[in-house]
Amino acid sequence: MATSSIRSFGARSASSALAPLTIARREPGPTDVELEILFCGVCHSDLHQARNEWHNTVYPCVPGHEIVGRVSRVGAQVGKFKAGDHAAVGCMVDSCRSCVNCQAGQEQYCTAFPTFTYNSPDKHTGGHTFGGYSTSVVVDESFVLRVPAGLDLAAAAPLLCAGITTYSPLRHWKVGPGQKVGIVGLGGLGHMGVKFARAFGAHVVLFTTSPGKTADALRLGAHEVVVSKNADEMRKHASSFDFILDCVSADHDINAYLSLLKLDGTLTLVGAPEHPLPVAAFNLLLPRRNFAGSAIGGIAETQEMLDFCAAHGVTSEIEIISMEQINEAWDRLLKQDVKYRFVIDLQSLRGN
Ligand code: NAP
Ligand code: ZN
Ligand code: ZN
Repeated sequence: MATSSIRSFGARSASSALAPLTIARREPGPTDVELEILFCGVCHSDLHQARNEWHNTVYPCVPGHEIVGRVSRVGAQVGKFKAGDHAAVGCMVDSCRSCVNCQAGQEQYCTAFPTFTYNSPDKHTGGHTFGGYSTSVVVDESFVLRVPAGLDLAAAAPLLCAGITTYSPLRHWKVGPGQKVGIVGLGGLGHMGVKFARAFGAHVVLFTTSPGKTADALRLGAHEVVVSKNADEMRKHASSFDFILDCVSADHDINAYLSLLKLDGTLTLVGAPEHPLPVAAFNLLLPRRNFAGSAIGGIAETQEMLDFCAAHGVTSEIEIISMEQINEAWDRLLKQDVKYRFVIDLQSLRGN
C-alpha cells in the first residue's frame, strides 16, 4: 500500500532512550483524516509501554495518545472534517464497530479489542500502530475528535487521555453534589480528576505523597489535601468516602484507601502499575465496599468531555517541551516532578 515516511521519536527496546525514528504512515483512504500533529501530551502509559512494563510491547515503539493537530488532508468520503480544521486523536484509532460494546459507544471495551493509537496490530499496514510522538497521523474519521473553539490547543491535548480517563468514571459512578470524593495522586490524571470532581459539585479530597503539591491541589479545586504518608491524617477519614479514584502509576497500598470508603462506597482504579495490588478481603467485606476499574472512555463520551471542557473552561496545567527533551521529561515523571502534564510541541521535530 502507498505510504509516506515521516519523522518520529521512539524506543527500539525496553532499555533504550527515545531517539529519532523514521516511520511509514498510510496515504489517507476515502474515510481517513490526516493530521499534522501540533501537540502531544506525555502520559505515564507512554513510559510503561515503551519500557515494556505491561509485558506486551512491540518494537520499535512510538508512544503518544494525546494528539491535537491541524487537518492536512481528508479522504473523498469524509464529512466531519476539512483541511485546516483543528482536530484530535486519543488512545484509540479503530475498533470492530459491531460488537455489543462498540454498538453502545463503549469502543474502549470492544470485545475484539480496540486498535490503540500505538502498539496495536495495524490492519492497514500489517505492522503495528505508531503514536503521536511524530509529525503526522492518519486516522479514520470516526475516531477523530473535534476540538471546540476556545480551547487552548496545547492545554487541550492531555484531555484526550488524562481528561477522558478521569471524566468517564466520575460520570459513570455519578459523582456530584453531596458526595465526598477522593482523588489519589496529583499527576496528569489526578489533576484532571480534581478539576472534574470539583466541576461536578462534589466535596473533593486529594491524596498525595508529595507535601509540596498541597497549595497547587487547593488551587486546582480540592477542598482538602491529605498527605497519605501521615497515618493520623488518613485515619481521620476512615469509612467516610462515597467514591475514590486511584490515579497512581506505581506500587502503593490500596488497602489504605479501601478502608476510607463508607458502606457501598467504590474505589475505582485508573492507574495501571506494573505489579498486582494485594487486597485484604475484610477491607471489601466490611462494610460492603466495591473495588472497580475503568479505561479511558468511548468516542462519543470523549467528544462530550471536550465540549464540557470548552463550556466550563477546563484544560490541563501543562509544561511545554520540545521533542528532544522527552527523555529528561520521562525521568522527571518518575520522580513525581511534573506540573501537571508535559506536552510536546512537535514543531521541533518538523524542523521548520
Ligand atoms: P503521572 O503524571 O506520573 O502521575 C502519577 C502520580 O501518582 C504521581 O504524580 C504521584 O502523585 C503518584 N505516585 C507516583 N509514584 C507513586 C508511588 N510510588 N506511591 C504513591 N504515589 C505515587 O501519571 P499519569 O499519566 O497521571 O498516569 C497515572 C497512571 O494511570 C499510570 O499508571 C498510567 O498508565 C495510568 N493510565 C490509565 C488509563 C486508563 O485508561 N485506565 C489511562 C491513562 C493512564 P503524588 O506526587 O501526588 O503522590
Ligand atoms: Zn494515556
Ligand atoms: Zn467492538
